[in-house]
Amino acid sequence: MTPPPAGRAALPGSLAADPWRSHAARIVAIRDEAPGVRGYDLELCDSAVREAYRFRPGQFNMLLLPGIGEAAISIASDPDAPHRLTHTVRAVGNVTDALARRCEGDEILLRGPFGTPWPLGALEGGDVIVVAGGLGLASQRAAILTLARQRNAYRRVVVLAGAKAPAGLLYAGEDAAWRAAGIEVERVVESADAGWRGAVGLVTDLVARLGDGRRAGVLCCGPDGMMRAVAAAAAGVGIGPERVWVSMERPMSCAVGQCGLCQFGPFFVCLDGPVFRYDRVARLLEIPGL
Ligand SMILES: Cc1cc2nc3c(=O)[nH]c(=O)nc-3n(C[C@H](O)[C@H](O)[C@H](O)COP(=O)(O)OP(=O)(O)OC[C@H]3O[C@@H](n4cnc5c(N)ncnc54)[C@H](O)[C@@H]3O)c2cc1C
Repeated sequence: MTPPPAGRAALPGSLAADPWRSHAARIVAIRDEAPGVRGYDLELCDSAVREAYRFRPGQFNMLLLPGIGEAAISIASDPDAPHRLTHTVRAVGNVTDALARRCEGDEILLRGPFGTPWPLGALEGGDVIVVAGGLGLASQRAAILTLARQRNAYRRVVVLAGAKAPAGLLYAGEDAAWRAAGIEVERVVESADAGWRGAVGLVTDLVARLGDGRRAGVLCCGPDGMMRAVAAAAAGVGIGPERVWVSMERPMSCAVGQCGLCQFGPFFVCLDGPVFRYDRVARLLEIPGL
């Protein structure tokens, strides 16, 4: 295989030997995570492929349903337990709707992992602020689980997660475990229901209240407008754009820089992202429809 261009993600794990090759994966568990959103735990069927598979927080797999298509889906599980791969999926179209009709025990196909990871190593010794909008938290859960395990390598670790309504908050049942690991967790919703006791507003409000952010890095994933607002709020507490990373979502097909579908200015989201340092993409994010 030709090595990736300088600065692009080197694909770890044996599956990367042929990034076009897909592998059978069994659905071992399905959970309802939020309205229209399910968690799928997958296990690669071939034991040699399963043993060789590794991924880093922030990377994604292509999930393939034969005769229907493929979709890019973040890997939401612990990179230290790569035998069971969690994908949190909102049913919005061809592949994800068809996946929602599959049952535990069914097999699908998977290729990956692809893409650039969250820069956890570069943030060691400082504060890490994870900011999620809605389903964006799926791309960050692997990073949160890693931060929890390596908690002593960082100063403050904060998770700020927002959703439109309480039912849309992902992994809310994990807050206690994350807090027990020394992570500050704050959840906020735009519109509360009768049972909601937490904050009401936007996740950017929580960023603006962080305090001195000069030793912090921000990992942000959500809709484009939310990520721009988070970067602006981060700048307000002293976190410059070179200390903010965003995970971009764009239509994607091949995941290996061949089809051009995910082109974003001079970048391909599949190869140069999905995780980008904000100062490299800030100008592009201002261009409507790009
Ligand atoms: C790096 C990355 C990570 C991702 N991680 C996740 C994740 O963890 N979980 C998750 O749920 N999603 C994730 N996504 C998004 C997911 O890949 C897309 O939602 C994907 O399109 C779903 O595929 P699909 O075939 O089900 O939907 P599609 O059929 O592709 O439809 C997706 C959306 O596009 C619209 N659409 C489809 N065709 C057209 C058209 N011709 N013109 C206009 N609109 C159209 C549909 O109405 C729908 O709103 C990620 C994407 C990327 C790039």
